[in-house]
Amino acid sequence: MIKLEKLHKYYDRQHVLKGIDLTVEKGEVVAVLGPSGSGKSTLLRCINFLEDPTSGIVEIGGKRVDAATAKKKEIFALRTATGMVFQQYNLFKNLTVLQNVSVGLTSVKRMKKDAADKKGIEMLEQVGLSSKLSHYPAQLSGGQQQRVGIARALALDPEVLLFDEPTSSLDPELVDEVLATIRRVADTGKTMFIVTHELSFAREISDRVIFMEDGVIIEQGTAEQIFTEPAVERTRQFLGKAV
Ligand code: ADP
Ligand code: MG
Repeated sequence: MIKLEKLHKYYDRQHVLKGIDLTVEKGEVVAVLGPSGSGKSTLLRCINFLEDPTSGIVEIGGKRVDAATAKKKEIFALRTATGMVFQQYNLFKNLTVLQNVSVGLTSVKRMKKDAADKKGIEMLEQVGLSSKLSHYPAQLSGGQQQRVGIARALALDPEVLLFDEPTSSLDPELVDEVLATIRRVADTGKTMFIVTHELSFAREISDRVIFMEDGVIIEQGTAEQIFTEPAVERTRQFLGKAV
């Protein structure tokens, strides 16, 4: 489903991803853990070419793109195969909740407005926000805004969903509703990457955990393995009390 081969990323001379190799099966939920600055966000952003990898190959659902020769069309195809949920929601403040979800359908997917709205409403039902269609983002709590972000990503039927610390901006009492929403999406069999500091959530939801440090995957395994018997000392330290 997803294959990364020898993925490297430099920001100027800083080597941030140092040859990431990874294969993820359809329907797998992958938690990405690791200390701040280890390259987790960069990895997600290179998967959909929000950042251009310096070298290496990204393959999603048979669409194979070599960073060295990537063409605009190929990058567009890769991007439409992915949906991204950001820490800061990134909603359009001047659009309603429904418009935030349907705008991608009319622009990227070229759907008619009626069909896009219908799909948008369906997605917002899935995240429990069908009563907020005409609200603006500023009228919603952070948790609700993030659920709109999830509905928006889902609406485009991506083959893989990428979550970058989806609950890090939220007040503690709003974290659970967003985690519950992500859990429901995982239950539908969607392939997902989740960068998170919510260790117990990662443990419960993921089929696989990858642990990054300094641009390298230093350990990976099932959630059970990583949380109960990490092989690498650094992972053990990081998980600390969770292990
Ligand atoms: P993480 O998400 O694990 O905290 P990041 O992928 O955000 O790590 O960052 C990895 C390293 O790359 C850090 O040293 C960070 O400062 C650097 N970095 C991230 N984004 C940029 C950027 N747009 N320009 C320059 N350096 C960046
Ligand atoms: Mg990050």
